[in-house]
Amino acid sequence: MADLIVKGGYVYDPINGVNGEKMDIMISGGKVVEDMSARGAKVLNAENKVVMPGGVDLHSHIAGSKINLGRLLRPEDHRKDVVPRTALTRSGVGYSCPSTFVTGYRYAQMGYTTVMEAAMPPLGARHVHEELNDTPIIDKAAFPLFGNNYFVMKYIKEGDMERLKAFVAWLLKATRGYAIKIVNPGGVENWKWGSNVGGLDDLVYNFEVSPRQIVTSLAKVNEELGLPHTIHLHCNNLGVPGNYETTIDTMEAVKGIKSKQGRDTKVHVVHCQFNALAGDDWSNVRSGAPQVAKYVNSNPHVTIDMGQAIFTDTTTMTGDGPWQFRLMNLTGNKWVNSDVEMEAGAGVVPYTFRKNNPANVIQWAIGLELALSIYSPWQVYMTTDHPNGGPFTYYPRVISWLMSRMARTKTMLEMNKAVMRRTNLSNIYREYDFQEVATVTRAATAKALGLEGKGHLGPGADGDVSVYDLDPTKWRPSMYPQIEKAFGSAAYTVKGGEVVVKDGEVVAVPNGTTFWVDAKIPDSVEEDLMGELREDFGKYYTVSLRNYPVEDAYLPQHRPIFPEGGRKW
Ligand SMILES: [Zn+2]
Repeated sequence: MADLIVKGGYVYDPINGVNGEKMDIMISGGKVVEDMSARGAKVLNAENKVVMPGGVDLHSHIAGSKINLGRLLRPEDHRKDVVPRTALTRSGVGYSCPSTFVTGYRYAQMGYTTVMEAAMPPLGARHVHEELNDTPIIDKAAFPLFGNNYFVMKYIKEGDMERLKAFVAWLLKATRGYAIKIVNPGGVENWKWGSNVGGLDDLVYNFEVSPRQIVTSLAKVNEELGLPHTIHLHCNNLGVPGNYETTIDTMEAVKGIKSKQGRDTKVHVVHCQFNALAGDDWSNVRSGAPQVAKYVNSNPHVTIDMGQAIFTDTTTMTGDGPWQFRLMNLTGNKWVNSDVEMEAGAGVVPYTFRKNNPANVIQWAIGLELALSIYSPWQVYMTTDHPNGGPFTYYPRVISWLMSRMARTKTMLEMNKAVMRRTNLSNIYREYDFQEVATVTRAATAKALGLEGKGHLGPGADGDVSVYDLDPTKWRPSMYPQIEKAFGSAAYTVKGGEVVVKDGEVVAVPNGTTFWVDAKIPDSVEEDLMGELREDFGKYYTVSLRNYPVEDAYLPQHRPIFPEGGRKW
């Protein structure tokens, strides 16, 4: 591959403190280098353009059984967005449940080069990896679901933290997973009995453990193992008016716990918009974003992502089975429920966010309120929880709302004033600058994930670069339609030193790498654990333990990450 120079652009690289300086980015052997011979290098002209590290999405649903159920459930979704093949790219369908190839192309077209699949049922890990392999260009990883797993609850009930730690390390390896995902802890297990949990101290049937115990135990194990990311938590009571209190209680529950090595536990709360509702029911629901933002502002152990709602037709899908049952009842829309034996569940329901639906208006405002009232962009990341709040292809519109109060006002004017008063959005004047956009879309997410080669453009970084056709010296908030256009169609996307997108068109389709975490479980600890797992697998699982772990053949291009703590088991 030829060396590459991205020449003369305005560079936004928050991790290295570069804020709009005009400079060249040099890439050799797929990595950013400090210096190299310009001779023979390919030059990309980035003059008068914005240059950022490749985008890093830390929460999206792009592969595996859930998105596939959505694809099967919604032929009408495919029909409105048919993507023809080109000489280089495959055909597919888009919109809210895009096919794998289209997912890779469209992320790259927006300048994104790394995407996390945020919910992998361990038993479905092969399927997830097969689909990730079919998702071109982008690097990726998947988060296995732990929050309602039989063994997790069993070891917590027995108070055996060492066993829990061994199980977490083993399951990450067995599924080739990257982080501890928790969805409605305990609630999905109770859903198998037709019920749910309503708060942190309710009990899970048969195990007699509470969501609080599940969350804090896994947060502690996360730190003991020194995993690169924090626990990735979908809180209890999602979508229930008044749930901001549960959300803050959960954040507070994780505070001040220390691992054996003295590390503080931390938590990432996902798609926080859905968990920041105030009020008692849907008739008087209002924004709880100010309370959540206030908490996050004074508690550095917490990060969140927005889960921004978009006014469009989409497909909701989550491991939170009981919530999807509720949503089916609220909407009367079609529904799929899926229980994954011993481990997890999921539900899929089509949904349309409408400007004349007061609840939707409030949800839309909450996402933006959170992003604009949390002071540090290192604590709040841009997502739509694709496709739950809306398809990821709407990220450029979210950026325009973040960067331009005028863009927000234009949307607010289409809404009922009395409903808007149940939010604080119209009183917020803050507008993100390019550095803050670079932070919430790549630098902070890469840092939160512990992906050292991502989210920055310093020497040694992966050669992932996005160039957007915008001149930041001429930027005014009234130009927000241009923001949407430029971020939706990168002038160039460079992946590992190769130009993959030019003027919004895909021009190369390399395969990305799948990251996973190898916490280096010692052989003796693993053997011990296996002895115990084998018995329960024999009794309760429909597969034998031997057939459970994902074989390397499922990961043709992968890279294990070794956490710090793993060295001192
Ligand atoms: Zn999600």
